[in-house]
Amino acid sequence: MSRFWSKLVKELTPYVPGEQPKTDNLIKLNTNENPYAPSPLAIQAMQAASNAKLRLYPDPESTDLKACLADYYQLTQQQVFIGNGSDEVLAHCFQALLKHDKPLLFPDITYSFYTVYSQLYQIDYQQIALADDFSINLDDYCIDNGGVIFPNPNAPTGRLLGLDSIEAFLKQNTESVVVVDEAYIDFGGQSAVTLVNKYPNLLVIQTLSKSRSLAGLRVGFAVGNADLIEALERVKNSFNSYPMDRFSTAGAIAAINDEAYFKDKCQAIINSREWLSEQLTSLGFDIVPSKTNFVFVSHKSKPAEGVASQLREKKIIVRHFKQSRIENYLRITVGTQEECESLITALKEII
Ligand code: PMP
Repeated sequence: MSRFWSKLVKELTPYVPGEQPKTDNLIKLNTNENPYAPSPLAIQAMQAASNAKLRLYPDPESTDLKACLADYYQLTQQQVFIGNGSDEVLAHCFQALLKHDKPLLFPDITYSFYTVYSQLYQIDYQQIALADDFSINLDDYCIDNGGVIFPNPNAPTGRLLGLDSIEAFLKQNTESVVVVDEAYIDFGGQSAVTLVNKYPNLLVIQTLSKSRSLAGLRVGFAVGNADLIEALERVKNSFNSYPMDRFSTAGAIAAINDEAYFKDKCQAIINSREWLSEQLTSLGFDIVPSKTNFVFVSHKSKPAEGVASQLREKKIIVRHFKQSRIENYLRITVGTQEECESLITALKEII
């Protein structure tokens, strides 16, 4: 700690991302990346963008990408906000829409960046306990609040909330912004994007990092009422005018336009997830029902941390969180079918 640090910086507890190992000889099932390559059309578009125009700044408004997403979701461009990964979109949301006098509500077990942003932007928050089966009960959020945020499906549990319960909640919670973080929605959930024209306080955030295999590119977006989007633009334009570079814009548009590739890879992951869940169950794991590209599992007799380190010795990395209520769980990203088979072979030896 330095005497030159601000008081705020001294008090921060930054987010700790999952390990990105420096070697390639590991089966990497720890950070929920897509095991398949991005669409070849996205790669081509980025290669084509590697040209002399790089001397120029990119479009600060990301107009082409906004138009592409607006068209995809049948919305207007004024209803779309783009950011450098959904993490940046989330950060702007916390500052622009979730910082109020009353506490922000989110689940006790959820994406750990929510507490980090709350600290950074000095937002008062209240964590609402998940039920014993790790489900979110939105009735528990029907209390005075300055905003509500939750991932759907939730992370790291993988559990999905039905659109009907989200809509029922929106009917009751009309006085604060409700942010639904849909990082994993494409692996079997129903998006709340269809509700944004009906509920002016609903903001839906998505990312190209998971279902479109572009974690390395950093593209995320939010859709909602134009008034909410304007708030995000105000923060963005007070922070960084050009969050989207020329490569990201070209790659993102091409990836979104390649619907067939996207659907095919999502289905492959869903199939492997179901296979993996069955295999893990027969090895004595309890599985939280997942609608994501990962499974959240706990073994009846083998402590999670030990299983994670034994897997690591076998060159497979999974994620373990040292957090109360979930210390005996592992979050395992669904890899290719081949990777899932290697994982099961390794676990058979361990258990
Ligand atoms: N939301 C949730 C729930 C996540 O798990 C992640 C991935 N760490 C993100 C948002 C951020 O994704 P990205 O910044 O890559 O878009």
